[in-house]
Amino acid sequence: MGDSFYQLTFLDLQKKCESRGLPPATARHMYNWYYKKHQRTLCDIHNFSEAAKNFTQTLNFDLPQIDQVHESADKTVKFLFRLHDGLKIETVLIPFQKKYTVCLSSQVGCAMNCSFCYTGTQGLKRHLTTQEIVGQFLESQKWLTTHRPGDDRILNIVYMGQGEPLHNFDAVRDSASIFMSQYGLSLAGHKITVSTSGYIPGLERWKAEMPDVNIALSLHSPFTEKRNELIPINRKYPLADVIEWVEAIPQEKKRFVTYEYLVLKEFNDSPTDAHATGELLKNKKALINLIPFNPFPGSGYRRPDESVLLSFKKILDDYKIPTMIRVTKGDKILAACGQLNTGSKRDAQNAKPANISVP
Ligand code: SAH
Ligand code: SF4
Repeated sequence: MGDSFYQLTFLDLQKKCESRGLPPATARHMYNWYYKKHQRTLCDIHNFSEAAKNFTQTLNFDLPQIDQVHESADKTVKFLFRLHDGLKIETVLIPFQKKYTVCLSSQVGCAMNCSFCYTGTQGLKRHLTTQEIVGQFLESQKWLTTHRPGDDRILNIVYMGQGEPLHNFDAVRDSASIFMSQYGLSLAGHKITVSTSGYIPGLERWKAEMPDVNIALSLHSPFTEKRNELIPINRKYPLADVIEWVEAIPQEKKRFVTYEYLVLKEFNDSPTDAHATGELLKNKKALINLIPFNPFPGSGYRRPDESVLLSFKKILDDYKIPTMIRVTKGDKILAACGQLNTGSKRDAQNAKPANISVP
């Protein structure tokens, strides 16, 4: 089987074409055919040379297959994808006024072992390839075009499904570059958000390598002890260092950093927590997303009360930090971003990680 076409950034494809002596337009034609025109058949355009057609035939165009589709009443769609080795991942389409945000997975499972996260209960099975990340988008888009014509535009991409995107840096970087290529899907960088738990080896590479996409940092607590419990890699990569790396990412376009704050009842939802968060972020270009915890069996945490969420937000409003409470979508199908599950190993007694193994 040849190289996967969907694995290749535009530059990679251009180099391959060049090395075969193909005209420079070949890469553009191919990107246009497969990404802009959403074709799935062999590239067959009139100005495509025999040599270029032959080259196309050396590539493979396999994509992950949709195994199951769960639709909820609020139009959220959860896909279970089957990968070539039989492993499963999930992708979610989140509706917003007849348009969608797609929530992509970056790994099968996750090595970070966060105590509140369904994915974390599985451990890391493997990284996804670029082709598998790009494929989630393409297959979700194809499903929408077929099943919800006229109501089928994916406007935003968030890397908030299974996995820690910065632990799989190369594939995430290349997939973002493919999404943004002007010859392909042409998505603007500010429509793409990569969320991280604070994995510094990835943050260190961001400035030089990552295309100009948004960053979201999973904060969850400004306090060391609490953050250590929630996000065990906080012990190895402490929040203060993480924030320094995040702030060092140039924000030429004066974009905000989104700080995600998972709100857990009577754990990190007090006015003290809110004030400390406000103090930490008050002079930064920050947006805060308050995410009410979505419980799952054996999680050991609880969902916060609505009134408590509102008071928490009110305190942050007083610090003049734009704060949103995330509306949970697709609850019934367990489709909340970051709450995707393809088989949890951790049981009720073992809900919180005892040993921390930092990748
Ligand atoms: N690994 C990355 C991105 C995937 S998780 C990260 O941690 O940032 C995406 C978001 O979903 C994170 O902010 C995470 O805290 C959140 N999340 C995980 N489990 C959740 C749950 N049970 N309820 C609500 N949000 C959850
Ligand atoms: Fe991994 Fe993110 Fe879940 Fe933590 S919250 S275990 S980093 S997917």
